[in-house]
Amino acid sequence: MPRPLTLITGGTRGIGAAVARRLAAEGHDLVLGYARDEDAATRMRAAVESLGASCRLVRADLTSDEGIDALFGEAAEAGRLAGVVNNAGATLHIGPLTQTPSDVIRRVIDLNLTSAVLVARRAVAELAEGGVLVNISSGAATTGSPGEYVHYAAAKAGVDALTKGLAIEAADRGIRVVGVAPGTIDTDIHADASDAGRVARVAASHPLGRAGRAEEVAGVVAFALSSDASYVTGTTIRVAGGR
Ligand code: NDP
Repeated sequence: MPRPLTLITGGTRGIGAAVARRLAAEGHDLVLGYARDEDAATRMRAAVESLGASCRLVRADLTSDEGIDALFGEAAEAGRLAGVVNNAGATLHIGPLTQTPSDVIRRVIDLNLTSAVLVARRAVAELAEGGVLVNISSGAATTGSPGEYVHYAAAKAGVDALTKGLAIEAADRGIRVVGVAPGTIDTDIHADASDAGRVARVAASHPLGRAGRAEEVAGVVAFALSSDASYVTGTTIRVAGGR
């Protein structure tokens, strides 16, 4: 059996890195996108290669058309894509919407929604018949994330609509589109928070009483990509500790 080729945006840190390790262990070859952190990217390549996967790294800012072209161009050289994990995202700022600067709102929506839509459009064009696109949303899409990042929540709610609509458009080629919406997961995305106790407080508000681990999201992404999920499309699976 040929090894499936899967592209992961933001595949070098946090949730994307956990997905990469999980898929490498399951026999996928990988194309991993990232924006800035060369050290993390180099470490990830070594980690997934040690699991027997081939790994192409592509440094490309997904808020530009050139960045998206570079990422999918490299993937096309590696072969035909079986899966795309549309994962890169950032929150950038925490606070009530009235105290959030306009440029932050534009940058957050640009990366978390506009780039996600553009990556998804390219993904369904490039995926092999029967391929799978997984869009990483957020529990914030449902809660609205008051006081923290309403603009980010609005972008992620857009990602849920993207999953629903594109699943129907792509269904005639056997392509599935599945969303995965994490709750609070212990990654660097929270590292810049000025309120050090915030993550612990938010984590405790999840009925399971703790933050999730990136590996707990990766398992659900791997399921969504697998044939075990062959009748799952157009829906978003929450991985949020009951929240
Ligand atoms: P991290 O900050 O740990 O990792 C983000 C990854 O995205 C990095 O690989 C980063 O590259 C890449 N990235 C950031 N900006 C860009 C850009 N402009 N172009 C290309 N790549 C970029 O985040 P998480 O792993 O926590 O988050 C992954 C996804 O999960 C995001 O969509 C996030 O919104 C979502 N999510 C996360 C939750 C959490 O609690 N952690 C909760 C709900 C949803 P580099 O390393 O080079 O900066």
